[in-house]
Amino acid sequence: MNYSRPKTLGEAARALAVSGAIGLAGGTDLLVHLGRDEAWPPGLVDLKEIPELHGIRSQDGIIRIGAATPLSQILESPAIEDFPALGQALRSFAGRAIRNRATLGGNLANASPAADTLPPLMIHEAVCLTQHRRIAVADLAVAPGETMLRPGEIIVSVEIPLPPKDAQSFFVKLAPREAMAIAVVNLAGLIVQSDGEVVLARIALGSVAPTVIRAKEAEEILEGHTLTKDAISQASLAAAEAASPIDDIRATADYRRRMIARLLNWELGRYIPNT
Ligand SMILES: Cc1cc2nc3c(=O)[nH]c(=O)nc-3n(C[C@H](O)[C@H](O)[C@H](O)COP(=O)(O)OP(=O)(O)OC[C@H]3O[C@@H](n4cnc5c(N)ncnc54)[C@H](O)[C@@H]3O)c2cc1C
Repeated sequence: MNYSRPKTLGEAARALAVSGAIGLAGGTDLLVHLGRDEAWPPGLVDLKEIPELHGIRSQDGIIRIGAATPLSQILESPAIEDFPALGQALRSFAGRAIRNRATLGGNLANASPAADTLPPLMIHEAVCLTQHRRIAVADLAVAPGETMLRPGEIIVSVEIPLPPKDAQSFFVKLAPREAMAIAVVNLAGLIVQSDGEVVLARIALGSVAPTVIRAKEAEEILEGHTLTKDAISQASLAAAEAASPIDDIRATADYRRRMIARLLNWELGRYIPNT
């Protein structure tokens, strides 16, 4: 096997053009699978030395995070304060040792339906930038473990637009333990209220469908209405309906559906305006 550490995107693309070569970032997904379920590839292309894949910059109402930036570095950045749901997701992610190695690009490209950064990125309508194009984070995963990235295509950075000033957002992860656990259900929500009415609602659900999904019908139930217990209850049920969970070793489909409704009901209830 050939291991390379390219210093530019061009060199990396050339190394990845070798049939079967795979990109390596933190290795916290890849190295677990290689040698266990999958054979070692002919080439392993380490992406961590490429400067464009590093750093966190804020400009013109957008924060841009290099795809190979370790999650712990993102969590320590002041820029994260504008994205409380992403902060909550990162704090619940694995444990400190994994967060020091794992990257945002790796979490996206791994395309797990339970990936913790996906729901918060989706409520902010974040976009991935590759060498060739922009891909909405919501469109990147097409099936469990599969993305629309072409061979040799590298996620360079992720752009997250700043939310409106009065936006409120949350992330919640239901898992068997507080650390080092894969989500049974994870979800994120963003709402903006003005003059007693919800003017914007976004809800994203993880671990309950082949890819992380937006619960559009639930969002429509909330938008244009006052945030009441009744509206929240209808929206929570609509979100549970939007899911297509499976039974697996961690939970049954029925439990996952019930938990979506229960968690959303609880989280959204915290934003009912005082009367
Ligand atoms: C003990 C443990 C606990 C974990 N806990 C969690 C958790 O709580 N929540 C969670 O969501 N995940 C968790 N994970 C999974 C894993 O840590 C994350 O998915 C992590 O973000 C992967 O990033 P990485 O940099 O390590 O990716 P790698 O393992 O290096 O790569 C993963 C995949 O992404 C591709 N890739 C990497 N970077 C790029 C790029 N820039 N462009 C294109 N393709 C790229 C690689 O080729 C590979 O296919 C855990 C893993 C372990 C081992």
